[in-house]
Amino acid sequence: MIQKEKIQTLWAKLEPLAPYSKHSRVHKLKTVGFSSHPCFIKRDDELSFGISGSKLRKFLSLIPALKRSGAEEVVIIGSAYSNNVVGLSQLLIENSLKPTLFLLGESSPQKPQGNLLLTSLLVPLAEVQWIPREEWSTVYQKAQEYVRTQSSHKIQIIPEGACMSESLSGAMTLPLDILENEKALKQDFQHIFMEAGTGLMAIATILGFAWLQKNICVHVVLLAEDEKTFRVRLQSFKKTFEDFMGDIIKDEIIESIFKVYTPSQCMSFGAPNASLFQEIAHVAREEGFFLDPIYSAKLFLKTKEILQDRAISGNSLMIHSGGALTLLGFQEQLLKTISFKKQA
Ligand SMILES: *Cc1c(COP(=O)(O)O)cnc(C)c1O
Repeated sequence: MIQKEKIQTLWAKLEPLAPYSKHSRVHKLKTVGFSSHPCFIKRDDELSFGISGSKLRKFLSLIPALKRSGAEEVVIIGSAYSNNVVGLSQLLIENSLKPTLFLLGESSPQKPQGNLLLTSLLVPLAEVQWIPREEWSTVYQKAQEYVRTQSSHKIQIIPEGACMSESLSGAMTLPLDILENEKALKQDFQHIFMEAGTGLMAIATILGFAWLQKNICVHVVLLAEDEKTFRVRLQSFKKTFEDFMGDIIKDEIIESIFKVYTPSQCMSFGAPNASLFQEIAHVAREEGFFLDPIYSAKLFLKTKEILQDRAISGNSLMIHSGGALTLLGFQEQLLKTISFKKQA
């Protein structure tokens, strides 16, 4: 049992947080898990319609930090279809901070699709700074150069995925909210399954549970980066967290609390294949919610694989981090999937 005071201390340390949703429900899955050791899903996809759940959690602390900084403009770096770009742009506009986008690509596409179509409703595409792939490794320097040329007002730069220390407090509301779910359910979770892009959400979950000394295993499916990069980032955020808490977490505790996985072949970052869309249709029909082809459908497939292959006992919880708006950009693939289903 984790001490109540420790949980309260951590919640208090995270303040100030913006007043966005930070509680989501969990429910049991029908098609994953076993009656002796069920698998639940945490519906962070329900935190917001337009902003993916994991991003909204980061923004809980990032937006107050940006407002405190006195910035009037914010440069967001990311792919053209990024959940972070479309999500953060919304909250910047709401808070009268001007979003300036540095996006990966040659030039504005004639027919923007998916998240880029939504982003173009928020920020005119003509104002986007397009950075070609060959120059992408220097995008942060390019953003810094841009900031130097605009001396009249303060500008902040947000790296890809809003992976920065200002997002850590917000991200830590995830492990704390999982504890709330356990209380409501009157059951504990022994295994958490989540995906990693930059890894910040997974790192916050690992650090939060490690500091609380919770008996749990966080299974992290690495979708964008390798294990080495994930571990370097974990160590770096561990230092940030320790400074912030004025406390130290032993490396043995952290090591005992997580496992990393690389996704199966069909799941690497980039173009999703037909089996992912079949999974999306299957889960919609059997479970009644939408997965997205970039993150949650891959997590769903990998979690099923892990639960089947390995002796995992106890209650499992999959984190549905949202992002289903990206389905908008995959209409042809979805149409193929439903016609395939009819013939079968
Ligand atoms: C950004 C995002 C992630 C990845 O989060 P990281 O903290 O970068 O690992 C996962 N799922 C969804 C839906 C996202 O938008």
